[in-house]
Amino acid sequence: MGSKTPITTINAHRAAGLNKSGPQANGHHINGHKSMDTEVDNPYATPPEESYDPEFESLVAQILRRLGEDPERTGLKRTPLRVAKAMDFLTSGYTQSLTEVVNGALFEAEGQEMVIVRDIEFYSQCEHHMLPFFGKAHIGYIPNASIIGLSKIARIVDVFARRLQVQERLTSQVADALIEILQPQGVAVVTEASHFCMMMRGVQKQNSFTISSAMRGSFKENAQTRAEFMELVTQKR
Ligand SMILES: [Zn+2]
Repeated sequence: MGSKTPITTINAHRAAGLNKSGPQANGHHINGHKSMDTEVDNPYATPPEESYDPEFESLVAQILRRLGEDPERTGLKRTPLRVAKAMDFLTSGYTQSLTEVVNGALFEAEGQEMVIVRDIEFYSQCEHHMLPFFGKAHIGYIPNASIIGLSKIARIVDVFARRLQVQERLTSQVADALIEILQPQGVAVVTEASHFCMMMRGVQKQNSFTISSAMRGSFKENAQTRAEFMELVTQKR
């Protein structure tokens, strides 16, 4: 892009476009003055020659063709790369270990009171349709010797949410992870989620959400403990 200043670039670029005979020669290509090495989400921006995961990208391009699309058109040119990056992020839970996430953030418990963290947002993908489901997790535990930093609880939820999942498994994996890490007297996990595979297709019920729960230890054995937890997490603020 032999441009001088941003202001003249647009005209110069258009002029260059008129002189070219290739398929790129069109008047929409006005962003040639943008730096080539920054990630610009503008579909009209000049696509930098960049590769992230060629094999993954070619699979995505294949899907686009199967949908009747042209993966080479301007708007879609970098889509395979973006999808590959996004999918890697959305499934990054597979490669995270609880040890590195917790990173030693355990502290000595000073009491045996129930600890509750509610309204932890999560975003996951259903393994049946690879469509998002998202919602909130509410977590309670009664410590024995150790408690965990509150932000770590949210990170543990992400480790299991960023995979292909079913909500019930996500719920019990979070509960089991907390048992393993804290060895508490008990753990309760309740998740409520909306599933795109129900909202956008199938029954198309936009306002329904699914609740799933996993009770371990004292929350499972003691109805009163469980009731206290449920009351606290369903309480309106
Ligand atoms: Zn589904």
